[in-house]
Amino acid sequence: MENLSVSATRLRRSPATRWTSVRIVPPMNLVFFGPPGAGKGTQADRFAANHGIPKISTGDMLRQAVAEGSRVGMLVRDTLQAGALVTDELIISLVAERLEQPDTTGGFVLDGFPRTIPQAAALDAMLAERGGVSVVALVVHADEVVRRLAVRGREDDDAWVIKERLRVYSRETEPVLEFYRRRGAVTILDGNRPLDEVTAAIEAAVTTGLRAKG
Ligand code: ADP
Repeated sequence: MENLSVSATRLRRSPATRWTSVRIVPPMNLVFFGPPGAGKGTQADRFAANHGIPKISTGDMLRQAVAEGSRVGMLVRDTLQAGALVTDELIISLVAERLEQPDTTGGFVLDGFPRTIPQAAALDAMLAERGGVSVVALVVHADEVVRRLAVRGREDDDAWVIKERLRVYSRETEPVLEFYRRRGAVTILDGNRPLDEVTAAIEAAVTTGLRAKG
């Protein structure tokens, strides 16, 4: 499969035998979307590494803040442990700051953001002049999600907190999918399949999608 990070600009020979650089695809501004346990974090890691773009995981950023005992960490620690969402205001400002870093100009993979409609609207505003986002959504059966999270065993993966996170997902986060779906910016993939198959499906979908867009 063609490597997009390499083909992002392609040289074309003009009649005057001068080489001109022609942009054939927009930057890979991606959102990986799905319930807790969908495998989006793992897939985002792989995709980002393959294409040399940063993965931006809001869950990782928040857990790191907690581990460091920073001001943000103190603010969000209890919220994370309860499986609730931190405030839109706080997470939007963290992401806005991150997207201002120069390593994001060629694209990025967002994992865990946006999780609410106000977050999605804020992301739109941040990217208004950067080509917007494409969304890859992984769908996974509910019983498979519970099984995977139980195996993972992160601190906020105990049975009660998992239930709460799934409730929060269907109440706050699923509507975000509809928000993007209405504008046709979503590719929905089956996340129940083995990891490598999902990785291949994402590669294929993003490559085709970006060609169509570019
Ligand atoms: P998972 O991989 O299980 O979906 P994450 O690592 O993405 O979990 O997030 C862990 C926790 O961090 C969430 O339960 C929530 O408390 C907080 N969090 C992460 N991203 C956001 C966000 N975009 N908005 C609000 N809270 C968030």
